[in-house]
Amino acid sequence: MSNHYDLIAIGGGSGGLSAAERAALYGKRCAVIEKERLGGTCVNVGCVPKKAMWYGAQIAHRLEMAPDYGFDITRNGFDWATLCAARDRYIQGINDWYVNYLADSNIDLIRGSARFVDAHTVEVGGQHYTADHIVIAPGGTPMVPTIPGAAHGITSDGFFALTSQPRRVVVVGGGYIAVELAGLLRSLGSEVDLLLRGEHVLRGFDCLLRDTLMEEMVESGINILPRIELERIERSEAGTLCLHAGSGHTIDGVDCLIWATGRRPLTDELNLQAAGIETDKGGFIPTDEWQETGVEGVYAVGDVTGRAALTPVAIAAARRLADRLFGGMAERRLDYNLIPTVVFSHPPIGTVGLTEDEARQAHGDAVKVYQTRFTPMLYAFGDHGVQTAMKLVTVGAQEKIVGCHLIGDGVDEMLQGFAVAIRMGATKRDFDDTVAIHPSSAEELVTLR
Ligand code: FAD
Ligand code: NDP
Repeated sequence: MSNHYDLIAIGGGSGGLSAAERAALYGKRCAVIEKERLGGTCVNVGCVPKKAMWYGAQIAHRLEMAPDYGFDITRNGFDWATLCAARDRYIQGINDWYVNYLADSNIDLIRGSARFVDAHTVEVGGQHYTADHIVIAPGGTPMVPTIPGAAHGITSDGFFALTSQPRRVVVVGGGYIAVELAGLLRSLGSEVDLLLRGEHVLRGFDCLLRDTLMEEMVESGINILPRIELERIERSEAGTLCLHAGSGHTIDGVDCLIWATGRRPLTDELNLQAAGIETDKGGFIPTDEWQETGVEGVYAVGDVTGRAALTPVAIAAARRLADRLFGGMAERRLDYNLIPTVVFSHPPIGTVGLTEDEARQAHGDAVKVYQTRFTPMLYAFGDHGVQTAMKLVTVGAQEKIVGCHLIGDGVDEMLQGFAVAIRMGATKRDFDDTVAIHPSSAEELVTLR
């Protein structure tokens, strides 16, 4: 069999699998090169295991509320290993499914690490493979600060490998991963400190979401420490960690330190210069609106491009690229505007479009904002209700909706439909004219005054 393909995808994660899958649907000869487990970050050390743990944390919350609803239950504890084993079985099923799916789709799976020989040739384990089109989709990996003792900490990859629940945890960072891991660990019963180098979590999100999330995290018992930068980590004789910050502040007796301080692209092994591909200073591969790298026949999708590091974005960019290359859809490409995203924090966040600040900077006085904050009926019978907050950002006389920002129970499932409406150009009037669904939290979005 020849080693020449119509399309080779480097990386068997969200982007690479989607490019090959869609190209194969058009009858093209395709291969996926993967050095680890099929499914990439999302399936193995990202969205899927995280969501499994998040569901566990949601159940913990419901158990706490059960007496308010008349249930007389005794909680005898939580077994971390049981949840992790169920999670890992589920993931193994996805890994196996992908192997079969590629075989059924006539996509060759090449196991190993790919490096470019030239713009149309890659080498894997000493074997050369050529293609008319090569899609680079190697994703990324966690970054850890370079301070003494940093290796005593783990990253999100290490979190998913924990065999027992850490009792006292420090999470460093304020992004998606930090707030998600801090939230689920706290919900499952760990003591959690969250260390921020700035003032707030989730830089770049609307202030209503950031403030409400921080309040709810504190209310849930997470100890948020702003303006702390660690300088040194030591392991004590007792086996726990001592964290030393620049301010002289120390945190002692820590069982588990989690670095959630961002991710970098996995481009160093690819020998990109052999293909004439440039990276930016962060190692990301810049692409134009067509996912093109500037080298003919070589494209990049997903986290490696440094744009909206989300699974559905990698998938959508890859599928549209294959549609354009092989499906006769010359104009098909991903529009990176109005990408909805959910943070699986406690409570979750759903957001799409411009924040209030961004809208005011772009449109000044033409911006009008509608917002609400309430305790959902779910919590009516207990002492502490987790807040829900919602904001619509509109522009102009037509009050076109340019941003929708939600935090609270259920918003993770609520946002998708609203994102369709906003993408279609919905105005505040369209929302007002939509009959509410009652009783629900979502109805507040179509009754805002
Ligand atoms: P990846 O999925 O990372 O796939 C890249 C693949 O390429 C990997 O399997 C890697 O082994 C392989 N590879 C790398 N280099 C080579 C090489 N030289 N040769 C061969 N193979 C190679 N996104 C969401 O939308 N929702 C979520 O809830 C969510 N949760 C997340 C939680 C965590 C903890 C993390 C870390 C990420 C999460 N993400 C989430 C982000 C999401 O996982 C990524 O955006 C997505 O996986 C990117 O897809 P990709 O194809 O670019 O890369
Ligand atoms: P993010 O870019 O979201 O956040 C990184 C955080 O680390 C920021 O709060 C940043 O602070 C902080 N930070 C960076 N360096 C340091 C340092 N030296 N000391 C202390 N803090 C530091 O990255 P994540 O790793 O959390 O997630 C990567 C991407 O993966 C996300 O951007 C998202 O696209 C995707 N993802 C999506 C999820 C979802 O869809 N639910 C879930 C998880 C990940 P500062 O703000 O001050 O810069």
